[in-house]
Formats: sequence, C-alpha cells, structure tokens
Amino acid sequence: MGIKVLINGFSLLNGENAQKVAILFDEKIIDIRESDSFDLSFERIDVDGSLIIPGGVDPHVHFNDPGFTSNETFSTGTTAAAFGGVTTIIDMPCTSLPPVTTVNNLKNKLNIIKEKAVVDYSMWGGITPESSFEDIEELYRFGVAAFKSYTISGMDTFKALSYSDIEKIFNHFSGTNTVFGFHAEDFSVIKNSIEAQTDDELKTVQGYLKARPIEAEVVAIKNILKLAKKYDVYIHIVHISSKEGVNLLKDYPKASCETCPHYLEFTGDDLYNLKGRLKTAPVVKNSEDREFLRDGLSNGSVNFVSTDHAGVFWGDLKLNSDFSKVYNGIPGVQLMIPYLFSEFYEKTLSLKKMIEISSENAAKRFKIYPQKGAMLIGSDADFTILKKEEWLLDESQLQSIGKYSPFYQKKLSWRVVSTFVRGVEVFSIKDGLKVNFGFGRYIPAQVD
Ligand SMILES: [Zn+2]
Repeated sequence: MGIKVLINGFSLLNGENAQKVAILFDEKIIDIRESDSFDLSFERIDVDGSLIIPGGVDPHVHFNDPGFTSNETFSTGTTAAAFGGVTTIIDMPCTSLPPVTTVNNLKNKLNIIKEKAVVDYSMWGGITPESSFEDIEELYRFGVAAFKSYTISGMDTFKALSYSDIEKIFNHFSGTNTVFGFHAEDFSVIKNSIEAQTDDELKTVQGYLKARPIEAEVVAIKNILKLAKKYDVYIHIVHISSKEGVNLLKDYPKASCETCPHYLEFTGDDLYNLKGRLKTAPVVKNSEDREFLRDGLSNGSVNFVSTDHAGVFWGDLKLNSDFSKVYNGIPGVQLMIPYLFSEFYEKTLSLKKMIEISSENAAKRFKIYPQKGAMLIGSDADFTILKKEEWLLDESQLQSIGKYSPFYQKKLSWRVVSTFVRGVEVFSIKDGLKVNFGFGRYIPAQVD
C-alpha cells in the first residue's frame, strides 16, 4: 500500500480545538503536521475543509452473528458502522449462538465473521451462571475486551447472574485488571413493578415505563458497586440511563459507565409517539436524567457513548399492539457519530472532548488504545471525515436489517462523508461501501 497524505482537513493537534492539519499515512499514521510539507511524490487526498477525527469506536453492539442473523449479521452491522464513521465495534457476547462464554465459542464466532466484517472488531466475553473461573481466565488471556453479565435477562440462551454469583466471581478475580460490565437493572424491582399492574396496563407504553423504573437501575448498581468495592475489581455499567445511577459511581475510581444517544435525546414522554422506534431496555427516563447524562459527557462522570445497537426487521416484532411484546432494541451504530457531533460539537463540547467520548475513552477502557481511538504516530490510520451539512435521515438508507430509528425526524448538522480503516477508504458518501466483506480484522485487547 502506498503512502498517502490527507490535506485541507481540520483536526486536533494539541489543545482543545480544531486546526488545519496534513496527515501522512499508510496502514498506520506516519506523521501529522500543521501544513503539507511532505514529499511531493505521495498521493494527496484533499478533504476540502472537512473535520478529521479518529475513527469512531462503538463499544457496545449486538451484531448477532452466528445465531440471530435474521436481526443483524456482521456484514450488515459493520456496513452500517462504516457508513456511520465507526471504524471499530466491540460486539456483545450474549446475542450469538453459542454465546461467547468460552474460548472455543469465541474461535467459532471469529471463524464465521471473518469473511463478513468491513470494519475492525473486538469482542466482549460473557459470564452466565454456567461459566467457570477457567472459562473467564481463558477468554481474558485470548484478548476479550471485558466481560458482560446481566442482573436481569430476557434471553433463554444467556441467563442472568444472581448477586451471590457476582460475589463469587469478584472474590476470585479480586485485585485483577479484568473489567466486569453489567446490564444493571434489578430483577426483583422489575418483577414487583410488573406484578403491581393489570394485564391490560402492561400492554401499554405507560405500563412498560412503569415496569422498568429508575429504581431498578439504582438498586442493581448499588449492589454491584458494594461488591466491587469489597473485592477491589473494575466494573463498567453499560447503557446507563439515570442521574442517580451515574451519581452512585462517582466515588469509586475503578467504575466507569457509558450512555447511549437515545438516553441523551429522549424521555419517557417521547415513547408514546415513537413507540417501537424507541423501545429499549433500560427504557428512556425523565428530562432530569437526560440533562444529567448530557452534563456527564462534559464533566466526565459519563465516560463515553455507545449505541447498544440491537436492530430487528421492522415488522411484527416492532409493531405488536401489545407493547410488552415489542422487541427491545434499536439499530444505532450508523447514527452515533453524526448525532453526537450535531448535538454537542461547538455547542457544549470541544473537539478534544468529542473525540474522548466517541472513541478515545472506550478504546482506553477496553485496552485497544492507542492502536484504536487515537490519531498518534503509529496508531492505525482509522479516520472519520465529517462535513457540516444539514440533513435528515432517510430510514431506507440505514444499512442494518432494521431500517428504523427514533432519530428519523431529527435535523442533523454533521454528516460522515468518508471512513478510513487502516489507511483504506471503506466508505464514501459518493460511492457507498468500497471494500469487500472480510476486510475487517479482529483486534484483541491488550493482555497484561
Ligand atoms: Zn446491549
């Protein structure tokens, strides 16, 4: 591969804000300068005043391959990522069959998806009540980014842990560098909230909101946090949705959390209109929670953003008149970067902060930094190129199997025009997808 130079772009060199840069790269970044003083023999790519950021990292997606591929595959999911300026995804272990709870299952998965991906990928490992300490240790050594568990699960193929299961695991891995991630909603709180309603109430939007109260997240986080402190382990709360949840984590340095675009944008009131387009678990909360999460991005109490991408074909599973039966999940990977830049950049967040929440902090937490999530000399040449332009999403243009989004009426002001992975343009707005399936590579986390 020849050496190329990106010219006439703006990016972060030092400080907080964008400045003009020229970037020399092959598969890796070779040099970055304030102006193009590189050898004239190198090929120039003129980005015409666009913004260049490190390729987005979405650390929480469900691409379902192998197993639930009628909802999403690694081909469709990573294509959506490329279109959305996400150059690395970290795939969840729970929505594969078999789930990624052993190294054998992980190898099986990697073997199947290696022909499909168009962007790079890391993997979460999973812990269920059937997991042994050896399974967890072997997955860690193999380079999984972190471990995902549930305190409540709707999946027969990936069961939730009890708090006593969690205590045994934390005790065994006490003081280690392993990161334990949780879907934190308390089983008993939700069970009681469901039992307090009539069958008819439960079929409505209001019934669903009542069934998944803030208290569910708060109780689960309190219990997990208490155990994490007792055994000195790293924890990460995925898709955090409440003010109180974030507040609880603040005084424990080994805790981190992520939130998602839907919690930053919507509240329970929006669920009445958006219905299936916005139905997720945890459910969206109140405006006070939303504002607190938005502030959390600036003050660092929310460490980064993920999408919890979990699409499904837009049909019966999303349109059921019984709202309790409507599939929980939205495909988000294609919109994360455009949404975050449209909503926060040059308004409440500097470019430095934007890069932290959209790639750098997740790459650090999940140990793929500075190969990913950085534009440093020696980093992979992963770039997302953004142009300031007003646009409205056409849902038929989503590359996921699920062609719906709660953001379909949202005016966006930044657009991904080009995506580079390891120096190769994988997407351009003019040509669409530009590489073959199988271009994406597995990026194991660093093991200490
Ligand atoms: Zn998820």
